[in-house]
Amino acid sequence: MPAVLRIALPVPLPRLFDYLPPEGANIAPGTRVQVPFGRGVQVGIVMETAAQSSVPTAQLKRVQRVLDDEPLLHGELLSSLHWATDYWLGAPGDVLLNNALPTALRQAKPWPALGEERWRLLDAGRAAQQEGKRRGRSRALLDLLAEGDLRASELDLRLPGWRDAARRLHKAGLIDSEIALDDAPTAPTQAAPELNAGQRDAVEAVAATLGSFAPFLLHGITGSGKTEVYIQLMERTLAAGRQCLLLVPEIGLAPQTVARLRARLGVPVDVLHSNLAEGARARAWLRARNGQARVILGTRSAVFAPLPDAGLIVVDEEHDTSYKQQEGFRYHARDLAVVRAQRLGVPIVLGSATPSLETLANVEAERYRRLDLRERTGAHRTPPRAELVDVRGQAMQHGLSNPLLAALDACVERGEQALIFRNRRGYAPLLMCHLCGWHAECPRCEKPLALHQGRQRLVCHHCELERPVPTVCPGCGGEGLHRQGHGTERLEEALQTRYVDTPVLRIDRETTRRRDAFEDLMGPLADGRPAILVGTQMLAKGHDLPNLTLVAITSLDEGLHSLDFRAHERLSQLIVQVAGRAGRAGKPGRVLLQTHQPEHPLLQTLLHRGYSATCAQMLDERRALRLPPFAYQALLRADATRREHVDAFLDAARDALPASETLRWSGPMPAPMPLRAGRHRGQLLLEADTRSALHAALKSWRDALGELEGARRVRWSIDVDPVDL
Ligand code: ADP
Ligand code: ZN
Ligand code: ZN
Repeated sequence: MPAVLRIALPVPLPRLFDYLPPEGANIAPGTRVQVPFGRGVQVGIVMETAAQSSVPTAQLKRVQRVLDDEPLLHGELLSSLHWATDYWLGAPGDVLLNNALPTALRQAKPWPALGEERWRLLDAGRAAQQEGKRRGRSRALLDLLAEGDLRASELDLRLPGWRDAARRLHKAGLIDSEIALDDAPTAPTQAAPELNAGQRDAVEAVAATLGSFAPFLLHGITGSGKTEVYIQLMERTLAAGRQCLLLVPEIGLAPQTVARLRARLGVPVDVLHSNLAEGARARAWLRARNGQARVILGTRSAVFAPLPDAGLIVVDEEHDTSYKQQEGFRYHARDLAVVRAQRLGVPIVLGSATPSLETLANVEAERYRRLDLRERTGAHRTPPRAELVDVRGQAMQHGLSNPLLAALDACVERGEQALIFRNRRGYAPLLMCHLCGWHAECPRCEKPLALHQGRQRLVCHHCELERPVPTVCPGCGGEGLHRQGHGTERLEEALQTRYVDTPVLRIDRETTRRRDAFEDLMGPLADGRPAILVGTQMLAKGHDLPNLTLVAITSLDEGLHSLDFRAHERLSQLIVQVAGRAGRAGKPGRVLLQTHQPEHPLLQTLLHRGYSATCAQMLDERRALRLPPFAYQALLRADATRREHVDAFLDAARDALPASETLRWSGPMPAPMPLRAGRHRGQLLLEADTRSALHAALKSWRDALGELEGARRVRWSIDVDPVDL
């Protein structure tokens, strides 16, 4: 019997804590226990058992309660979590309890019941549905249930706010619910289309590897039928009695996808994402754990789903930066998914219209197999053509050139949809006095405050500080205040004035703050009604808009000039993604890109030779400059209210670096935002040519940093494989 248990506790320290096991109990790793900690109690997870502790036995405390009859975490998941903790330098308790487990399972409570309400139409309800009775959500709920019974979690996704309607319809005797433990598979309600040659080759190539680890890149523009390939692979995986995990980016988790999977596969789809009610999330996680969940669809954190019968992992839009967690435990869900696929011995498909350079480098090195979908399928037959609009010396209205306005006029005239991409929220990025030069600035970040006209606020986009809008200039008391530049809000206003009869919809963080707002705004457009969409990055994804024939990016210039070495990769991806949204059968799309740099080599290559050629060129540059993916990086970040504390810590951190011939570093240097929310920020970048050289140094360095004199005066963290420097 082991003398001590080594336990992960939810504290941000990179270590385990030793406890004595309860008398007479044998506790396996992965079991949750309650232990005394500090003045209170904590829920922890047993990670290891050991013969002895470095702490004298007399000082060791004893586990108070064992919370699980069998380990909650075990097998591959537990070992992958060990690996992830090591690789991204996490604190074990933070990784396991705050990231891997749903909140409801972090508490000393019994597991939530696995049963879930399942709603169905009664005969009276079917009649009411057929007669087209009821309005609004009630109507929508009847229509949904007419397609088949649905569980509460599915309704949450497909019809936000359905509960009130359900209550009314239930009272009227039209629908009923029961607690269901599991759903019998139903016949798929939608037939599979005939695959084209590229899709068939892709399905066969992956299917041939079912049952063993094999990583694939599935490259194909939007509408080339990638999702169809996933679905057919899932069919085969399910037929073999195995589970499928599909990861999607944050905003891509459209109810559309859930509905499509369900209709095609005939099995319930369990959804895991951070916006879910806690009970529902824990339930889906536990269903995955006991194998009831066959298809698990989720965003970043769904990569922690237990997969006892794993058969296939798919990461859609694998290049998407939302897969990288940017705070706390800075893991990358795509990369962890690949590691899990390897340990589980299953194929993994990384799909994208714009694969990341990391993945393309893996293809080049023959670690991943590349599958290409070259045609657009079904309704998407015509690929859009992108054109540069040279705006040098051109008259502009609200940041829009005459050629762009002419194209917009024509699009509105035809009753079609247009999308205008502008990467600035708010009304005007700058409020400035024409008399004295004063401008509104965030005192905590030393960056301009953006004017938000609707909210009547000046807002800092870096720290969310808000200020009232002055009516006279605070600098000179004069009336010279001037709104400079055009944010999405101002563009919306201008377009509304110009196109009175066409609805203008703004999609940005402000208009989609509310849960489901994105859905509510975009959903109705799927029927093709005329509209002009104005918005930020968010517009690159989301609904398939059948009548969208004009897409414009108002300025490429910022992306061309950024100092971030990934800026060109991001810009290329954005252009291809946004462009991919335009054009349908018989309605070719137009894509207009405004720039002051039409001759820029990046744009020339991208427009004339395509994304793959552009990436090949970017990879050559990265190789020559020894940048990722041909080098491995870790970034030490530190911030404090006093600049000298940051400097002293980073200097000491550099001095604490182990002597190594394979390690390079740059810095300490100020962060790209040297001041943010009143805190001074600095960083030190570590690089090596191999992963192992980097990791050999990192762990002991991290431990040494914790011991540094100045470590307590700063907030610091190490980001392994950082995606923004
Ligand atoms: P992607 O995921 O690459 O954007 P989808 O798989 O969503 O592409 O396919 C785009 C559209 O074309 C969808 O409406 C889909 O149902 C349809 N589609 C896909 N493959 C085929 C096919 N082989 N034949 C006909 N329609 C198809
Ligand atoms: Zn002034
Ligand atoms: Zn600020």
